[in-house]
Amino acid sequence: MTDATAPITQDVLTIPRKLPEGGQMNLVGLTREQLRDALIAAGTPEKQAKMRVGQIWQWIYHWGVRDFAEMTNLAKDYRTLLAEKFVIEIPEIVTRQVSMDGTRKYLLRIAGGHEVEVVYIPEENRGTLCISSQVGCTLTCSFCHTGTQKLVRNLTAAEIVGQVMVARDDLNEWPVPGAPKDETRLVSNVVLMGMGEPLYNFDNVRDAMKVVMDGEGISLSRRRITLSTSGIVPEIAKTAEEIGCLLAISFHATTDEVRDRLVPVNKKWNIETLLNALRDYPRLSNSERITFEYVMLKGVNDSDADAKRLVKLIRGIPAKINLIPFNEWPGAPYERSDWERIEAFADIIYKAGYASPIRTPRGEDIMAACGQLKSATERARKSRAEIQAETGL
Ligand code: SAH
Ligand code: SF4
Repeated sequence: MTDATAPITQDVLTIPRKLPEGGQMNLVGLTREQLRDALIAAGTPEKQAKMRVGQIWQWIYHWGVRDFAEMTNLAKDYRTLLAEKFVIEIPEIVTRQVSMDGTRKYLLRIAGGHEVEVVYIPEENRGTLCISSQVGCTLTCSFCHTGTQKLVRNLTAAEIVGQVMVARDDLNEWPVPGAPKDETRLVSNVVLMGMGEPLYNFDNVRDAMKVVMDGEGISLSRRRITLSTSGIVPEIAKTAEEIGCLLAISFHATTDEVRDRLVPVNKKWNIETLLNALRDYPRLSNSERITFEYVMLKGVNDSDADAKRLVKLIRGIPAKINLIPFNEWPGAPYERSDWERIEAFADIIYKAGYASPIRTPRGEDIMAACGQLKSATERARKSRAEIQAETGL
């Protein structure tokens, strides 16, 4: 089992945004304000900047264009200038696996040869893209495969938005000019439930979600984005105010003693502190309900007493409880609760007035289910300087 007493660290490399001097700057992941500044720095007259931002934004995020030459409503000289100064770059697909149930798992390569996984889960009336916020995770939840990966780096905003763009490419979802508008969306929902703790990479996650939510581009409403956190309390109010998306909490236990073992960050912000922070979330974010994620571990957190305690703890918080049957991974120190146990647990919660869906594991055959993600080519931990040198940024 992972050492639950290990210190909780947040020593993660964040890659600075590439500046245009010399090299070319990637426009993907810039907020509108940042894009404006970049265009002005490249010589766009200030008076035209707003209009140019709008045009380029549409090309990149509405039409999915990657080549400045295709931006036909811009003057030829201006397109040439843009191509000199900028690129439109997204992560590269290394492998794509398709599960028997239609789930797709992409392994993506990002700067420095690092890898992240992204999972697309098609359902009857929606398609959910599960994206990553970090390579690995600094936290060491003892039931999570990602938590065993040593190498960690924050993803840039470009790499986070890029995951959505990669999926739209692969699913052929960019609109075709002149074709009738297709309202059915393949990627209709985004969940930040892949690798990493999104609230330990707050600024990049926020900027990326602003791009994804922008109505003139990918245009996913904030209610179709769910951010899952292990409970980084100081960032929760900021999430409500600056992103406003739906929130999911990896709760997983009903006593501090058990949660300390399962989600070690609980030692820093315990159950009571976390719940207090959550009480304000629906009001601050204007959203209705918080999702409590609860992984079902045989004999650890799955008793009737746990279910009853859970209901008591969350009283007063508009909530739904998502029960996640534990997904096994090689060397995992836990077992999945029996099906009858999960149903009995769900029943107690349901009778107390909360929705208590049991999450059907998806893509298990390709190790794409919750908590199974981990970069395939994990290497020994490197120094910050080594990682920085490799990224070439
Ligand atoms: N770091 C964030 C988001 C990524 S984890 C967080 O912890 O919330 C996404 C969800 O998968 C979390 O609820 C996590 O607790 C759960 N999870 C992790 N490992 C799992 C496993 N082996 N089986 C089932 N769910 C797991
Ligand atoms: Fe990190 Fe979330 Fe896994 Fe915990 S469950 S180790 S916070 S990715």
